[in-house]
Order: sequence, then C-alpha cells, then structure tokens
Amino acid sequence: MLGDIDGLKEVRHKKLNQLKQLLTDRLDTLQSPADCSKARKLLCKLNKGCGYGCQMHHAVYCLIVAYATKRTLLLDTNGWRYMPQNGWEGYFKPLSTNCKIGSESQASPWDGHNDADLLVHLPISDGITRRPSYLPLAIPKDMSETLLTYHGHPFVWFVGHMMRYLLRWQSTTQNFIDDKKKELKFDKPIVGIHVRRTDKINSEAALHNIEEYMVHVEEYYQKLKRTTKVPVKRVFIATDEPKVVDEARKRYKDYVFVSDAQASKSAALSSRYSDQSLRGIILDIEILAQTDYLVCTFSSQVCRLAYEIMQTYHDDASQYFHSLDDIYYFGGQNMHRHKAIYPHAARRQGEIDLAVGDIIAVAGNHWDGYSKGRVQGKGWDGLYPSYKTEDVPDIGDFAAYN
Ligand code: GDP
Repeated sequence: MLGDIDGLKEVRHKKLNQLKQLLTDRLDTLQSPADCSKARKLLCKLNKGCGYGCQMHHAVYCLIVAYATKRTLLLDTNGWRYMPQNGWEGYFKPLSTNCKIGSESQASPWDGHNDADLLVHLPISDGITRRPSYLPLAIPKDMSETLLTYHGHPFVWFVGHMMRYLLRWQSTTQNFIDDKKKELKFDKPIVGIHVRRTDKINSEAALHNIEEYMVHVEEYYQKLKRTTKVPVKRVFIATDEPKVVDEARKRYKDYVFVSDAQASKSAALSSRYSDQSLRGIILDIEILAQTDYLVCTFSSQVCRLAYEIMQTYHDDASQYFHSLDDIYYFGGQNMHRHKAIYPHAARRQGEIDLAVGDIIAVAGNHWDGYSKGRVQGKGWDGLYPSYKTEDVPDIGDFAAYN
C-alpha cells in the first residue's frame, strides 16, 4: 500500500504499460512482415502430446524463441488434439495477418546456428541440443531494468504478456467468456482455487484436501477485512474433479462458491480432448487469471498458466498467489539460481553451508523458510534458509530491437 502514498503505484503503472506496448508493437511487426516470402520464419507444431496448459507453454516457448531470434512464428495447429479442424482460429486470432504455414519439408531443422536459414523447424524444448541463454527463465536485457525495478517476478511478467499475445480471443470467445462470467455472477472480491486431481495424483503431484486450499483463502479474506468491508467471501473453483465443488459448498457455508459445472465435467479424462473440454479449460483459466488471488498447485500447468495471464490484469500480481506445492517454474527451463547474501553454517542433517556469493541451483522451496538446492562448484546438495539468498536475475541474449 506504500505505493499509494509515495506515488510509486502510478509510476509503476506507466512504466509497465509502456513496456507492454513496446513488446506488442515489436511482436506485431515481427508477426506480419511486409514481405513474408523474404522474412525469416520459425515453424512450431502445437500438437504436443499433453494437456492445454502444457501445449500453450510449448507455444509460448516457440514465440519466445521467435522473438529472441527475430523470426516470424508459424504455429502449425493442424490436427490439434483438442479440436483437429481449424481449432485454433475457432477460438484465437491468427498469429499473423499475412504469413501462412508453408511446407514443413522446406524447413531446416533447428541446430542453434540457423541464422541464414529462411525457415527453421523448432523441436520441443526438451529436444533442443544447444541451449541458448534466452530460453526461460530469461528476460530480454533491454527490458530488464524496468522489470527488475517495477515487477516482483520479471520473467512471469514477460511470459504472461507473451502468452496474452498468443491467446488473443476471437470475438465469439470473448462473448462466451463474458456471458459465462455473468451467468456465474463473477464479482469482486474473489479468490480463485484450482484443484487438480484425476490423472495427476500420485504420478506428478500429491493429493491436497480442500481444507488445505481454504486455509489460504480464509487468510486472504482476513487480511482484506482489515482495510475493506467484505460482505461476501466469494471463491471461484476450477477443477477436473466435480465432487470437490459439492464438498466445498457443504463444508464451508460462510463462503459463496462459483464454478462452471460443464467445464469440470468435461475435464474428466475420458472426455478431455474435445471441443467441449477446450471451451471449459479456456474459461476456467481465464477466470482464474481474473480473480484477486490464486490458491493452487504450481505442479499443474493450469495453475501456472493462470498465474502468468494474471500479470496482464494488474501491474504487478507477482504476490497474488499461494502454491500448495512447487515454486514457480517453466517446464524445460534453464537453471534457476539463487545467490547467497549471508553465510550459513549447517545446523542439522540435510542442511548445507553457504559462503556469501555462492551460486545455488534451486530445486525447490519447502515453504517452511527453507529452500533446497545444489551449490555450484562445490557440489553440496541440501537445505538452506531462503532469506540468506536472493534470486539471480536471468538476462538472456535476445536479438536487439530498435
Ligand atoms: P497439468 O497436467 O495439470 O500440468 O496441466 P495440462 O493443462 O497440461 O493438462 C491437464 C488438462 O486437464 C487440462 O489442459 C484440461 O484439459 C484438464 N483440466 C485439468 N484441470 C482442469 C480444470 O480445473 N478445469 C478444466 N476445465 N479442465 C481441467
């Protein structure tokens, strides 16, 4: 709230808006070049064998590489598993006004040295051999000063705005979302929770009961009540397990829960890759992103995608979340680094020593004040107090724009 008093809020708003405009203008120019036949292009296939969140993260990685190498992104959406026939343009605006997908056979495979090739085919990020410095979690150097000064999580701002550029609604999609928000009585204040169950449990994530989410929802409202009247404690639930919504309504009578029953029903595994399910997940993520605070599991790409898009609705929403499991990451990211700013002597088994200046490859946060990681050059692997370290900003070698 200090920003309201000293004017920082206004400055932040102005600076981040200018940056957003700059990024959008650059992307517009890149995506619709004057002569497409002469423009350098990057071909990416959307149809990665995974869910919507994972596919959109793949697509945004392609857009980041295209931006970093000054190429026009051609996103091949043919045979999209959610909607094989022209699915993309049924929901989203085309990424280019004049460049169309050509023949893949004319594309050179990505090898990291493709500067002179006109059309290059980029594999999924796990398949990239020479890993450029501009891959996530990097931000462009010419945006770094503004982002590091005015945003709490610069990479999330960058990826959120890149994602928004990718996911620009057709007017029919916008109408569908607006109508649903009215039908659901989406009103502020509202906390969004995403409860990921079904195929994720015990394969990629642990089960978290509804109580675990509600502790953080209640905490959010308790804090809000100190400064504002809160007549209704509203919660939006997105889930692939419809019974979670009934359970929440039964157990927490002092809250109003809103949820789109059709969306969660169509998220069940057997019907997941359908047009109906696509509408559901588009809606759920968009509404989660528009809430005031998110409680979810960052192990899920749905939750991370909502958090990223949330940044486009606020100047700095980097603190508007609570993850019940992982810290934020981008699948296939380059190393996330911490730097020790205080020394630390291990006090119990499992802890590691730190010397000021040590660089640590971060593996995770234990949410009890400790992080886990490996000290570079020393090979020690273990727990250390998070407050004795700070994030090392990752500034990538992106192509220059003027
Ligand atoms: P992850 O598996 O949770 O990391 O995320 P993905 O997006 O890659 O795959 C999960 C898929 O399950 C989603 O894309 C949806 O199709 C479906 N799904 C999961 N949670 C929800 C939800 O809350 N709402 C809806 N509508 N679908 C969901």
